[in-house]
Amino acid sequence: MFTKRRVLIVLTALVLVIAAAANAFASTYVGNAHTHKFHYEWCRYVDRMNDSNKVYFEDREDAIDQGYVPCKVCQP
Ligand SMILES: [Zn+2]
Repeated sequence: MFTKRRVLIVLTALVLVIAAAANAFASTYVGNAHTHKFHYEWCRYVDRMNDSNKVYFEDREDAIDQGYVPCKVCQP
């Protein structure tokens, strides 16, 4: 049965899922401005990276165009 309340709950859930998906696709890669290598966000080198050296990329072509080299560990 579709009550107004249920429709509202479904719409809210849908918005949250879309927002989460959009967030997952944005800035998937993290470059190191010091070494000019780029990584997946989950790479252990990103954890060690100084925040001031972090450069975020939405796709790997962007990183390569800007002279960044893929990490040999996480292979983005
Ligand atoms: Zn890496």
